[in-house]
Amino acid sequence: MIASQRACALGLVPGYQDLPERFYARVAPEPVSRPRLIAFNAPLAEELGLDLDQADEATLAALFSGNDSVRVGGTVAVAYAGHQFGQFVPQLGDGRALLLGDAPGRDGVPREIQLKGSGRTPFSRGGDGRAALGPVLREYLVSEAMHALGIPTTRALAAVATGETVWRERPLPGAILTRVAASHVRIGTFEYFAARGDREALGLLVEHVLRRNPPAGALDQPPALALLDAVIERQARLVAAWMHVGFVHGVMNTDNTSIAGETIDFGPCAFLDGYDPATVFSSIDRHGRYSYSNQPHAARWNLARLAEALLPLIDPDPQRAIDRANAALEEFPRRFDAAWLEGMRRKLGLTTARAEDAVLVREWLDALHRGRVDYTLAFRDIAALADAEAAPRERLRARFADPSDFDAWTNAWEARIAHEPPLPPGARAAAMRRVNPAIIPRNHQIERAIGAAIDDGDFAPFTALSIVLGRPYDEAGPRTAGYARPPAPEERVTRTFCGT
Ligand code: AMP
Ligand code: MG
Repeated sequence: MIASQRACALGLVPGYQDLPERFYARVAPEPVSRPRLIAFNAPLAEELGLDLDQADEATLAALFSGNDSVRVGGTVAVAYAGHQFGQFVPQLGDGRALLLGDAPGRDGVPREIQLKGSGRTPFSRGGDGRAALGPVLREYLVSEAMHALGIPTTRALAAVATGETVWRERPLPGAILTRVAASHVRIGTFEYFAARGDREALGLLVEHVLRRNPPAGALDQPPALALLDAVIERQARLVAAWMHVGFVHGVMNTDNTSIAGETIDFGPCAFLDGYDPATVFSSIDRHGRYSYSNQPHAARWNLARLAEALLPLIDPDPQRAIDRANAALEEFPRRFDAAWLEGMRRKLGLTTARAEDAVLVREWLDALHRGRVDYTLAFRDIAALADAEAAPRERLRARFADPSDFDAWTNAWEARIAHEPPLPPGARAAAMRRVNPAIIPRNHQIERAIGAAIDDGDFAPFTALSIVLGRPYDEAGPRTAGYARPPAPEERVTRTFCGT
């Protein structure tokens, strides 16, 4: 093992690199000519236990461009496969990313550090191994916003401009993102070995994941089944959390489905503005496979691919393996529905559960849909109902094309609240504001920040947006109100593009 002590200049230790050589390719980053630091997430570095508080910008730029790792070695491109829009691709892998190693974590939980855009690898196929500035800024903003919203996600530790040009439809400035994940293992990693009939590797991967990302419950079942069960639980909770904030991932392929249950891959993702469950943003998703409302079904489909890959390890008897895997998969809809309803109750200010709650939520969403009401602001302003404040209530009512829709529903909501245990004045509204964000990463704001960076080299809008997105549940004040506003008709973004 060459990377025994220090996996890179950051003082990381090898984690995934301790698995056998067929799990990855050893590759060094391709150095870049003029690395310049765009953003560095100092609080995250501190959480990760990285000793960087004395590092100057040039040092950070050298570290997070990969220029420093070249010297130290130990970086790997990880092998994986995946189903992309339903089609199996037996080999994908890190075509433009490199794993540096594990950060210790101040909480003792190791996290993987990866460079994205660091040059070609044996998995690059036709690609250049690079990333353009726009997608790097987008991932930085949205992944950190997801974290601030309280949703499991990969994080962004740094963004560095490379000083080099990448060629997409037009020449663009190049950049590198440093991504942090509990694990970069995806459903596609299991599919890679399953497709090769490599049971030994599958077993090692199961062991690795169970050790690194241990499930909450006891391991009173075969390890592969315990793993499947844990991933089902994590994905049910994750996708429910996405639905609660109106997030559309956009490219829920099995290679973008994390075993650790984190949001990963921020290519064509976007948040709903006006509520329509059929919303699709991604330019390549022509049939709505990954539309907002289809996300739980897509997750269930992906989990079935994980189950298939794990079958030989679940039970030596093929039929019993299928039965046990199916029994685990059947839990997904129940768990998703429970997590979804639990979160929706909180968003509506309910602290207890009653049978009629699911209907109350559905009727609210149907009313939002009929009026294409802004999803985020509708939930945010609904706290006004609990406050019994007239002005915000009228403001919310006015968002509905047919205000009688709103009146009918609020009557039902008030009748339901009558069954709730009483709370001190203001407590219900305050609790609602803690789960209904005022500010989400709206696509028109992201595009504006990216445009200023690319066209004018002006990173101020990016930095300002990044700060505002860090406190999504704060009441919008004079300086932040513009970020809370939905896009004007001419600002609306209806199409997003993959970050390649
Ligand atoms: P993604 O769409 O980001 O999930 O990537 C799908 C696959 O394409 C992965 O194997 C990536 O590593 C690979 N890929 C994406 N962009 C590039 C690029 N610019 N160069 C090489 N490989 C890439
Ligand atoms: Mg991906």
